[in-house]
Amino acid sequence: MLDANENPFETHLNEHLQELNRYPDPHFEALREAIAHYRSVLPEQIFLGNGSDEAIDLLIRMCCIPGKDRILITPPTYGMYQVSADIHGIETIKIPLKPDFSLETKAIIEKRDEASIIFLCSPNNPTANLLEQGDILRIMDGYHGIVVVDEAYMDFSPGDSLLPFLGKYPNLVILQTLSKAFGLAGIRLGMAFGSPEIIRILMAIKPPYNINSITQWRALQAFKEPEIIQQNIKTILQNRSKLIEDLSSLPMVKKIHSSAANFLLVQFDDALSYYKKLAAQGIIVRYRGDQLHCENCLRITVGTAIENQKLTDTLRILS
Ligand code: PMP
Repeated sequence: MLDANENPFETHLNEHLQELNRYPDPHFEALREAIAHYRSVLPEQIFLGNGSDEAIDLLIRMCCIPGKDRILITPPTYGMYQVSADIHGIETIKIPLKPDFSLETKAIIEKRDEASIIFLCSPNNPTANLLEQGDILRIMDGYHGIVVVDEAYMDFSPGDSLLPFLGKYPNLVILQTLSKAFGLAGIRLGMAFGSPEIIRILMAIKPPYNINSITQWRALQAFKEPEIIQQNIKTILQNRSKLIEDLSSLPMVKKIHSSAANFLLVQFDDALSYYKKLAAQGIIVRYRGDQLHCENCLRITVGTAIENQKLTDTLRILS
């Protein structure tokens, strides 16, 4: 191995992870195989990014010419679609969700030909609801651009992934991540599933060694122990039920939106003041009252039973 100007002296992180002096596998073959097996897709339908955020960035670079092309998003939704578009000089068409957080399907279909990519998020962040599969399929049908469905939170939801539709819709790209249900946000691993043609382009335009050896090794371990992930998901869903029950009894809580994710969108009588008071007590939640249809809302991640109890106890004292 005298081709890559590597250092011949090895650094061992532990006995299982050797050869950190070598560059990682740029095609992440072993990891792709493991994910293909876990999600019942083909390895050539999988792209891996440094978080889904890298996949979002590369999809925009792949499909859009700065100053000319546009993407379509459905606010309120995950912020990185807009951020990435802005960075690339790509204009954003916004078709807001209805007040019940469902898609304005007809309006999207009327506008879709002006956009190169449509980003949909299901379950959506910050509203926590699943989008109707039928709506997504209608948006994809006859559309010449790419529909990206971000399923970052799908493992927490009772809904079905769109992965089985990959074969039928060559313009569908699905994003998933190890940052949520797998509890591995720190290793930065995002997945994009799509047609082999799209995946080939993403692989060609990515930085060569975008998934480091430590991440590839740790992710492989995770796919070997799916029962741990399933148990964690179960616990988080139980904790979510208890958190909903406890929050419901608080006088300042006006509404808890139904959730298909590991967080709750909660309407308060005065969200900003409770956001600040919680922060002063060392409890950090996300203020979302500035987003469309989210007036006076905080987005609260479901934590451990102890963390959730501390949150509700603190709110009770503040009431
Ligand atoms: N998509 C959605 C909907 C998210 O909420 C997030 C993180 N908050 C991401 C993607 C980012 O995922 P990753 O950590 O894989 O970059």
